[in-house]
Amino acid sequence: MGWEDFSKNCQFVVGLGNRVRFWQDGWYGDQPFQLAFPRLYGIAIDKEVSVEASLSRQGAEDRRIWNVRFIREFNDWEMDDLSRQGAEDRRIWNVRFIREFNDWEMDEGLHFLRILGAKIPPMDVGDRMRWKLKPNGDFDIRSYYNKLRGSPSIVFPWKVIWKAKAPRRVSFFVWCVVWNKILTGDNMRLRKLVFVDWCIMCRHCGETVDHLLLHCEMAYRLWSFVFITFGLSWVVPRSIPDLLFGWWNWLGKYSSQIWNLVPLCILWCIWKEWNRRTFEDLDSSSDQMLASFSGTLFDWSRAWGLTTSLLYDLHA
Ligand SMILES: [Zn+2]
Repeated sequence: MGWEDFSKNCQFVVGLGNRVRFWQDGWYGDQPFQLAFPRLYGIAIDKEVSVEASLSRQGAEDRRIWNVRFIREFNDWEMDDLSRQGAEDRRIWNVRFIREFNDWEMDEGLHFLRILGAKIPPMDVGDRMRWKLKPNGDFDIRSYYNKLRGSPSIVFPWKVIWKAKAPRRVSFFVWCVVWNKILTGDNMRLRKLVFVDWCIMCRHCGETVDHLLLHCEMAYRLWSFVFITFGLSWVVPRSIPDLLFGWWNWLGKYSSQIWNLVPLCILWCIWKEWNRRTFEDLDSSSDQMLASFSGTLFDWSRAWGLTTSLLYDLHA
């Protein structure tokens, strides 16, 4: 990882064009012209040329035209394309190749000229960089971090993990869950550990983090219990991050203290059960798990002085 990877997330916004390379920098579309038009690049005269030098200024009005050198002159039909643009924009492209396009290069060539024709950079502003991972184009470390982690879709639910008044080891565990770093079946296989692929809770499905903690019937029963108790309807989300996102202060800033503990408590209880089953060969029934969840939530809440009648109901 270095500048190569980093710069893939940047796009040049060309003004004058003197700081951007015509073929090698990404300033149009998703990739540099060098990659988008490899065959044309092969016959371009000057491969290092800047965008500015690929444009010619024209006439008394100081217009610029493209001046990218190819091996041959443009045909008439190509010149029409190019100069039509030039008349309006005061610069026209002047892209030169070392020879005429061959038949099999023609499609690529036409497409290329059409793109150029539609895009004459303004002369009165400087070149600048745009960060592609953010809609507003400003660089931001979080978007880059998520990209590196390969999780662009995760809006990290950090508040529900770190601000809830749960024991630190529980927050840390849930943090690992969100990054998909706990030792469920799918992750063990990634580490080349051999074992039977089934969920230790329901003994049916393959075991992924989202199955074990959300979709498995044992987990589902816990989540449903909570939503019914709090009088909320819900639709099972696709993943744990989706579930956690938006959980924080769902019930309003002053009524959510216990609510904010719930996801950590459920995940922790399932995980304790997973460990009991895996390492101690002991099973709890789903009723026992509900009781364990209620008891744990009650203990955590009491430790912080958060108790309500609802919680006593849960515990009862
Ligand atoms: Zn299961």
